[in-house]
Amino acid sequence: MIDIHNHILVDIDDGPKTDEDAIKLIQQAYDEGITRIVATPHHLHTRYDNPIAKVKQKIDDLKALEGVKALGVNIYPGQEIRITDQIINNINEGEVIGINNSRYLLIELPSNEVPQYTQRLFYEIQSMGYVPIIAHPERNKAIAQNLDLLFELINGGALSQITSSSLNGSMGKKVRALAIQMIENNLTHFVSSDAHSVEARPFIMKSMWESKKLKNYHEEMNDFLNNADLVINDKKITKQIPTQDYKQKKWFGIL
Ligand code: FE
Repeated sequence: MIDIHNHILVDIDDGPKTDEDAIKLIQQAYDEGITRIVATPHHLHTRYDNPIAKVKQKIDDLKALEGVKALGVNIYPGQEIRITDQIINNINEGEVIGINNSRYLLIELPSNEVPQYTQRLFYEIQSMGYVPIIAHPERNKAIAQNLDLLFELINGGALSQITSSSLNGSMGKKVRALAIQMIENNLTHFVSSDAHSVEARPFIMKSMWESKKLKNYHEEMNDFLNNADLVINDKKITKQIPTQDYKQKKWFGIL
């Protein structure tokens, strides 16, 4: 299985600080059935800046460790790019590339809002041939209150990635319900760990299939894994038309 959003590189962002911690984290990924990992350290973040050359160097360092070699996992370059007006410049200057050199960019929104310029920026990025993937929309406060914000971006050509700890209930029932609502309305296309550490923010993948609450969503979860495969191979993703059935449910709840 493939994980397209996580923080496994040593001392580059809020992921592991030591080689030992990184090895333990990758061991956890392996135990969860993940054999292909796209490393996505924060970039253009208020606290972390990781141009792709630095990411590639850190991946080489990690792959050289005996403990990592022994696991035989594949690691690919990526970035979790904070939404800013610098993205276009960074693409033109070669500091930002798509996941594994593909057309797909993992983009992080601020946690409280969807900036006014998001739609316009996404349009510009798409006209350059890229496809934005919105990282963990279920953790954005504005989207949680108004799913139309996500619907509009997906309808405009973006994709999205939900976090496995949201889907398996580790972040609470409300977040899980929201993540499921996104699945039911074709508003999300990937599930990934956003792993940072073995204890607090772990890799979760295989164990999700054992969750009783998710037993009706195995088909979609398998589609999400196939989509991750298409991303790292730079193939086109065929997405289902996004729906707004969440509106009817809301009204039904009131009536
Ligand atoms: Fe992240």
